[in-house]
Amino acid sequence: MSQLRITEIFHSLQGEAATAGLPTAFVRLTGCPLRCLYCDTAYAFSGGELMGLDDILQKVSSRKVRYVTVTGGEPLAQPDCLGLLKALCDTGYQVSLETSGAMDTIGVDERVSVVLDLKTPGSGESSRNLYGNVSQLKPIDQVKFVICNREDYEWARFKVEEYALRDKVAELLFSASHAELESSQLAQWILEDELDVRLQIQLHKYLWGDKPGV
Ligand code: SF4
Repeated sequence: MSQLRITEIFHSLQGEAATAGLPTAFVRLTGCPLRCLYCDTAYAFSGGELMGLDDILQKVSSRKVRYVTVTGGEPLAQPDCLGLLKALCDTGYQVSLETSGAMDTIGVDERVSVVLDLKTPGSGESSRNLYGNVSQLKPIDQVKFVICNREDYEWARFKVEEYALRDKVAELLFSASHAELESSQLAQWILEDELDVRLQIQLHKYLWGDKPGV
């Protein structure tokens, strides 16, 4: 029976992406092969608890929610993540997957909204982006850029154009790296350049601060 290493399962309001503000169950898988300079979930790099699919589904269903987000760490670093995503979809949840852009998304259930985090130069991990994932993007998917400075912003703009991302996905998300760039500065750049992207503010950090399990 397949098992996954899980850092935490909790219910909260989605803080990011297309379903921001909506009650959501979060399944955070343990482990990540990247080391982004701004990472706010380093506590998920190791440890965790081995859980079977049935136990995960039971914990997710302990509160009434429509949305489930599978996150990490890097969830796709555990191959059995694909089975978890399918099982959640089969159960009737609307499922999103937060993935780093460094793992192949082939095999992810088509009902899942993939939130592909293309790593900017400021992350220190942009060389890990697998651009083959861009050709896998579907209309329900989302592409996210965490922007640390003006160089990252220009890089993200270029990638949006280079891969014609506006026509490929439901949401283009520009998010300021919490400690490095003011969201208001990013907002100003977006408006000045008339970009057709969504400024993303990590709602959960404004509501509850920068801590696990929220
Ligand atoms: S991919 Fe995500 S979890 Fe992994 S180091 Fe980067 S920010 Fe942290």
